[in-house]
Amino acid sequence: MIETLRSFVDAAGLLTGPDIGERYLNTRGHSQAGAPLCVVRPTSTAQVSAILKACHAAGQTVVAQGGMTGLVGGGAPRGGEVVLSLERMNQIEEFDPEGRTLTAQAGVILQTAHEYCEERGFMLPLDLGARGSATIGGVISTNAGGVRVIRYGMMRESVLGLEVVMADGTVISALNKMLKNNAGYDLKHMFIGSEGTLGIVTRAVCRLRANPKSVNTAFASLPTFEDTVAFLGYLESELGGALGSFEVMWGAYDAFVRATCPSLRPPLPAGQAFYVLLETLGTDPEADPERLQEILAAAMEKGLITDAAVAQSEQQRAAFWAVRENAGEGFRKLGPMFSYDVSMPIRAMGDFATRVKSGVDAAYSNATTLVLGHMGDGNLHVVAAVGIGGAEAHSKVNDIVYGVIRDLGGSISAEHGIGVEKKNYLAWSRTPEEIALMRTLKSTLDPKGILNPGKVL
Ligand SMILES: Cc1cc2nc3c(=O)[nH]c(=O)nc-3n(C[C@H](O)[C@H](O)[C@H](O)COP(=O)(O)OP(=O)(O)OC[C@H]3O[C@@H](n4cnc5c(N)ncnc54)[C@H](O)[C@@H]3O)c2cc1C
Repeated sequence: MIETLRSFVDAAGLLTGPDIGERYLNTRGHSQAGAPLCVVRPTSTAQVSAILKACHAAGQTVVAQGGMTGLVGGGAPRGGEVVLSLERMNQIEEFDPEGRTLTAQAGVILQTAHEYCEERGFMLPLDLGARGSATIGGVISTNAGGVRVIRYGMMRESVLGLEVVMADGTVISALNKMLKNNAGYDLKHMFIGSEGTLGIVTRAVCRLRANPKSVNTAFASLPTFEDTVAFLGYLESELGGALGSFEVMWGAYDAFVRATCPSLRPPLPAGQAFYVLLETLGTDPEADPERLQEILAAAMEKGLITDAAVAQSEQQRAAFWAVRENAGEGFRKLGPMFSYDVSMPIRAMGDFATRVKSGVDAAYSNATTLVLGHMGDGNLHVVAAVGIGGAEAHSKVNDIVYGVIRDLGGSISAEHGIGVEKKNYLAWSRTPEEIALMRTLKSTLDPKGILNPGKVL
């Protein structure tokens, strides 16, 4: 197998044994990981096709890898697979300013695509903390989200066309550039978010948007969860489509940041029940800041918020975001911790946070449970530190968090996908009929089960 694959690529295109670096084995703590047979690093769709054709014929399993920033073990080898790394398919092939599209190979780093677009006055709206390593193929295969979903949607909304290589090597080149194309089934959606289990993404046409001309960022504090829901509704009606982010932090998270992250500077006084970080993306640098001030003043008059601060400089804006995004220093002080990324109807979020905290507290004394997230998208993050790590405690906390999600009709995976990490809980968010249809799809597109076996289903 190795010699066959070697014949398809150049000298740097195949790695075995000790030449396989940590990057390809990175498990992020997923216990099922094992050594792959080899790593193959193609540079073209034709090479990917030849590799898959040979693997299909031999019944050889394959795991696709992009930037290896996924958090659920989707790209981690479990032992014996061919790792198919798209890292060398890293060319931006075409930019169309009139059609507002970018055609890129799967291994293009997200940040590279951002910079390329920004230099030309456009934006690829999907953005996330791992932008420096995550790839276009990876963000498509996980249908990644991030901080601007409320305005621009998840990655799915930014993909117009896709080229995919199927398990048997067949190339489906559907590099559509139109916003509207209803000629039969829209097949790309089958592959977006399929975590490398249905096909290998090799190229994509991404939809670009105009760069916002003004970005305004504010922090607000609120007394109750119901007020945060009302505040979100109020902003949406006052700002129309200009609301770019709406991030909520429970008061316990704010207190935790103040206690453990001396480098972070929360802009509002401590002790409030909820904090919201919001951002508007507008077109008028003169009028937009004033308009936001007015809206916040009116929200205060209505009693929706108790206080607000608007960032006056790029430096302040970065400091506001750091409170939301850079609490890693504090998390490390917690010792072993379990983190969750779940979604639910917005009105259920308050109940969710209360029930998860009391469930964890009942199981473990001295536990720390922190809740925050992309409230506008119905997406919350939970961090639970219960004093110990290990599989038993992890599974116990999983049962608590996902049990509440099941009761509330939410999803065990708002972002990141299922991978191996959440596989045992898929049925807590999907009906038996949905899972049966997923299995039918999988066995139709990949009858020998060679693509990323043991993941998702
Ligand atoms: C600091 C940090 C912040 C993050 N923030 C977010 C966030 O806000 N929102 C979010 O959604 N995620 C977030 N993530 C998770 C991660 O960045 C995303 O899941 C990202 O989309 C993974 O891209 P990748 O290129 O690293 O893919 P990988 O991790 O390499 O792979 C992820 C999955 O996709 C498959 N895959 C990769 N490339 C291909 C391909 N070309 N064809 C078919 N299958 C493929 C793999 O087999 C695997 O199952 C974050 C991660 C980190 C470390």
